[in-house]
Order: sequence, then structure tokens, then C-alpha cells
Amino acid sequence: AGPVAAESQSSVTPPNAQLASPAIEARVNALLARMTLEEKVGQLVQYAAHGASSDGGDAFAPNPETRTKVDSMALARKGELGSVLNLVGADTTRPFQEAALKSRLGIPLLFGADIIHGYQTIYPIPLALSATWDPQLVQDLSHMAALEATRGGVKWVFSPMVDISRDARWGRSAEGAGEDPYLGSAIARAYIHGYQGTDLADPQNVAASVKHFAAYGAAEAGREYNTTDMSDVRLRQVYLPPYRAAVEAGAATMMSAFNALNGVPATANPYLMTDILRKEWGFDGFVVSDYTAVMELTHHGIALDAAAATQKALQAGVEVDMMSHYYDTQIPALLKDGRLSMATVDEAVRRVLRVKFALGVFEHPYARAARAGESAAANHALARKAAEESFVLLKNADTQGAAVLPLDTHVKTVALIGPLADTASEMQGPWGGARHFDDFTTVRKGLEARMHASGGTLVYARGTDIASDSQAGFAEALKAASRADVVVMALGEAAGMSGEAAARAHLGLPGNQQQLLEQVVASGKPVVLLVFSGRPLVLDWADKHVAAIMAVWFPGAEAGNAIARVVFGDVAPSGKLTMSFPYTEGQEPLYYSTFPTGRPAGDADTRLPPSHDSTYVSRYIDAPNDALYPFGHGLSYTTFGYSGVHVSRATVPLAEANRADARNLVTVTATVTNTGKRAGTEVVQLYVRNLGASLSQPVRSLQGFQRVALQAGESKQVTFALGFPELSFWNAKSEQVVEPTQYTVWVGGSSQAVQKAAFTISP
Ligand code: BGC
Repeated sequence: AGPVAAESQSSVTPPNAQLASPAIEARVNALLARMTLEEKVGQLVQYAAHGASSDGGDAFAPNPETRTKVDSMALARKGELGSVLNLVGADTTRPFQEAALKSRLGIPLLFGADIIHGYQTIYPIPLALSATWDPQLVQDLSHMAALEATRGGVKWVFSPMVDISRDARWGRSAEGAGEDPYLGSAIARAYIHGYQGTDLADPQNVAASVKHFAAYGAAEAGREYNTTDMSDVRLRQVYLPPYRAAVEAGAATMMSAFNALNGVPATANPYLMTDILRKEWGFDGFVVSDYTAVMELTHHGIALDAAAATQKALQAGVEVDMMSHYYDTQIPALLKDGRLSMATVDEAVRRVLRVKFALGVFEHPYARAARAGESAAANHALARKAAEESFVLLKNADTQGAAVLPLDTHVKTVALIGPLADTASEMQGPWGGARHFDDFTTVRKGLEARMHASGGTLVYARGTDIASDSQAGFAEALKAASRADVVVMALGEAAGMSGEAAARAHLGLPGNQQQLLEQVVASGKPVVLLVFSGRPLVLDWADKHVAAIMAVWFPGAEAGNAIARVVFGDVAPSGKLTMSFPYTEGQEPLYYSTFPTGRPAGDADTRLPPSHDSTYVSRYIDAPNDALYPFGHGLSYTTFGYSGVHVSRATVPLAEANRADARNLVTVTATVTNTGKRAGTEVVQLYVRNLGASLSQPVRSLQGFQRVALQAGESKQVTFALGFPELSFWNAKSEQVVEPTQYTVWVGGSSQAVQKAAFTISP
């Protein structure tokens, strides 16, 4: 079988159809024919807003050789600027746009901004959103962000980040959808549909920029910007699917990554940007470099000077130079001495203009006026729902096995302790971008309102700072605990401890929060631990000693309201982990979809250490192989049971299965039952294993999921369809194929699902 392209599984936007229409091509060509070289090059550069009246930042290239201030306003006036970075607001974008429209050809600017998880209304960080396993919610939130962005003049967002991350040390895990390509692809599609809608030209929609192409999340040792090195099979099977899903959903732009892949920096990588993105996937939009990434090619050691870096980046497929100040200074000379062809430059300009026409910025260059029905209150309601769905209840049993959450609504005194309890700014997490926090609800405010309403009392003590050695606040915290019936502790990372350039080698609670936790637990009061973080943390001690633990990530503006509602049981938790939580950081990178070895670890579920008599098992001698809390794990206030996992056919002929358009070859059904005493929502997960392929395959891969709401005692049957996209894998010739083999399928509530069935692909 030759290489085949699986079709989009989405039903909304046809791939790139909005970009490559004949009408747009005619307009692009007519405009291109009138442009001078300076005007063409201008479309290929992006600067921050130096020269803007108020809010503007400084635009400069940090390269020592070119450390000149760039007057982006002056460039806009001359028609020699294509886009502006991170200038948001109807009033601040307007003068720039006016200047560009008054230039000779009046080509409008694109305002591109890091609107990552909301603009006016900050919702939970992307890793938290992935924990909802709710693509429709992600789509609704991205649409909301687009509505707010376009009212601020922004028609282009630098989101979604679809980098798979399997190493919790990597700070940017916070910005993605976790470790799994199937879930990551579903979420990537949802972002694109939410941002771009069905019609890019609608003034309320924005172009997405899918980042960071590619494999940035595989940075060696989780170290920021570090090199990645992997087989083509792993690249295609694990890292590329979410980018591809986004392109198939119609993503208008991509952002090239900072890292090198197999020795070739992503920003100068023709295999990624030309062969795969353009030729295989048919991408018609444009690629923007990451911030000064073209200049950084000289640091990577693949370009001796600015000219070589420019030539390599442009020829590989980077159309827009973000902030390097290289394309504008180098392209004219490269053309003159024949190292670049005008055709290459024209093709790049064509792609940028195509997106501008498709976005309708020629017709609607300015910020959009609000429409009836758009309200901050509705946006906050959505942000709150997202936060509630994103919380993952990791543990909920005291030493007697009794559940501590939800708290009794009549509880008299609650002590709230910890450095994350009374802060608004930390609630936004990395890349929040909020400039004021008036519309944020802190944990303290949320719980206080709740306690007052029921006649109870909330006692608050900070206890310690997020990263501090001082125990000065411990006594007050212990006093608060002694007065309370229950203690809620708000511990974890500061917002700035995840995100870009925030790799961590230690994944415990920062500073002396662990000591604070241990002392409060020693007081004997029941403790509910709320963990704020942008990544999995090491919670092994807490798992053994704390009655209830809930990961709440960085929940955004509605943090306090959402936490109060979940803690007091108005809503039951339904989030599930999208990254494995390790026992210890020495296990990283840690992910469920690992490969079998010739020497299995034995009982996969055993905590440490069974017998070490056997010299031959594949296991750490001082830590388990498995996660403390595995991918897909998450409890609710009720329990769920699984039964009757069946497949519709025992055998499928290869000829039927090994076709890119094969869908619904086998259906898997299972019954899920709410076995507890209250209503809840379960994320039902389907895992697949291919037992005998030409290349060894992971022990399990997620290939389906559904959120199912169940009343107490209620059962529902869930059905999953498996076709070529779910059953195929990439072989040693980089072809996507189905081979004759046996499959095991599991259906359950985490990656450790046990109920299973099997079928065969016959030769
Ligand atoms: C980040 C990108 C971001 C860009 C623009 C870079 O440092 O890696 O994710 O979009 O800056 O602010």
C-alpha cells in the first residue's frame, strides 16, 4: 500500500476551502502585480507596536548585530509592514490601521496576539481545558475569545498550542492538551472551529495560528527550547496528528517552533514545512516564525549570518518573520545575488495576502462593534462551567475510606490555608494577559460567599508564600486549622512557574508548602488539598496522607466561584487527567501509551516494590513504572461501573480495513452504570492495542471517548466506531497502514480500564 491520507473526521469547515477560492486568488494576483519589492517584503515582517501612542511596546531585534529600534508605525505608513504583534484594543490598533490604509496600496495590517485562554474573560489554561474532555466546550470558549478579540481589533490569535507533551518538566505543558495524540487532535479541531467559525470573513471570527510546528513538546529532558530527536514513525504517530487535524479543520496559519528536529531547526525545516505541511497536507495558509526564531538559526549553528538564516527560513517555508528584523534587511540583497528567487518571495507574499483577503480585513479593517446578546455575564458563565469541568478529583477517601468531598453544606467552620487562596492574579496562570483583576473571584471570596450564605464561618490564613523558606506564617495557619471542622488548602505553583521558559527539574510543591501541608495534616483535621499548577506535580506524600486531593490547574477569572460550587457539591467533578502524574520526577518522561518490552514489569498495578528477586523485569528498583495518577484518571462524587464490552465483528478482512476512507469497520459497545447515590458525568474511554504489527505498537492507545451524564443507578450503552484512522499506524516506510493482526480493546474510566474484547484483521 502506498502512503494514504486519512480524511478529516470533522464535519464543519472544509479544509482550506476558504483560503484557496478562485475569487481570492484573482484578488491576490492583481494586488501582487502592483507591489514594489519593499511592499512585498513588508508583508513578510511582523513587529511589535513601537511608535504607538499608548500601549505600544518596543520593537527591536535582540540580535547584537541588528539591535536597532524598528519604528513599526513609520513602516505602516509606508506600506512596509504586514502585521503587528500583541497590540490589542480598538483604540490602540486603530491608528496603526489608519496609517497602513493611507499607504500607497492601502493593504490592511493584521493584528496578531497571544490570546491563549481568553482576552477580556480569562478562562482556564489549555491543559485544564483538555481535562474536560469536552471539545464542544473548547469550541465555545474559543469562539468567545474570538468575539472579544475582534472587538479589540485582533483578527489573528497565536493559538492553539497543539504540542504533545509527555514530560511534566516542560513548562509549556500548561499550554497544550497533554500527552495523547487522539485527544489532542479532537481538541485541536475544536479550537480551530471555535476561532475560525465556518466563515473566516465574518468579522467575528479570527485566524488561528497552530503552534509550534513541530515536536516542540518533545524537548529533550523537558528543558525549554531543547533539541528533539526522534524516528519518523514516532513523529507521525505521536507528534504530528494534532497539527494535521488542525490543518484539516482549515487552520489559516501555523507558527514554526524554536527547537531543532533531528538536527534541523524547525524554522528552517523543509521536511516539516514543505514536504509534510504543504505537499502532504495541502496547506494553503502561511507560516509565521516564532519570536526571533529566524535570527536564532544563527545560534543553532546552521547559518553563519543573517543572510543565510533568511534564505534557509524562507526557502523552507516560513513566510513571516516575527521580530528578527532579518527578512526586511536581507531579502533585497539575497535577490540581487541570486540566492533567492523572486518566485519564492512572491509565493510567500501570495500566502499572506490570501489569508488577509479570506479574513475580510480589506472590507473590515477595524475593531468590530458589539452585537446584541454579547455580554460579559454570559462569558463568565461559560468560563465558570469550563473551570468546573476541568477539575480532576484525584483522591477522595480518609483513613477510614470515607469521602470528604463534597463538604456538607452545613459545615460550621472551614479554614482556608495557602498562598493560592487569596490571589486573583495567580488564578490566570501563564499567558493570561489580564491587565486588571476586578472580574476575578479568588478562592477566598468564592468560599466566603458560600459560607456566609449558609451561616458558617471561613477562617483564612496564608501560611506561606508560594516559593519561600520562611515558616513565619505557619503558626497562624495551624491556629486557623485548630478552629475548623475542615481545612481547605490552596497550594501549588505560581502562574509564572509554567508556560514558556519555565522548565522545572523538581516537581514537588514549591518552597515550603510541603512542610506546611505536613504540619496541617498532623493537626488531625480533615484536609482537602486544591492543587494549582500548569503541569503534573509529584503528590506521592499527599496521596498517602491527605484525605481529598483535587487538581484545579489555573482556573481563570471564575476560580473561586467554580471551586466553591464543586467543593460544596453543586456540581460533581468530571475532569480526567490528560497527563500522567508521576510518583517522582525521575520517571519523566511518563505517559500511558508506552511500548512493550521483552521483559514486562510484571503486575502493572503493583506499587512498590514487589520482589526484586527477579533480575529480569523492566522496572525501577526504587520507584514504580506506572503513574501515581494515570492518564484518564479522575473521580466523581459517585462511582461508575462497566460491563458488557462487545465488538460487532470478530474478523475484518484486510482489504476492507486498509483503505484511507474505511470507517466504522468494527463497533465497540459497552454499558456504563452510575453505581453510586448521586448524578454524575463520566468520561468513557476506549483504548486499543495492536498485538502483532510489523513495528511494535504501544500497550494502549486512546481511540475514542464520550462524556456521559448518568443519574444515580442509571445505565447507558455507549458505542464507538473504529475505522482506518483509529486502527492504522505508521510503518517503517512512513506509510499509514492497517496490517493483518489482532486487536484488544478496553472500555473504562481511565487508561487502566479492565473490561475488554478482541477482534482480528484477517489477511
Ligand atoms: C512564544 C509563542 C508566542 C510568541 C509571540 C514566543 O515566545 O513561543 O508561543 O506566540 O512568543 O508572543
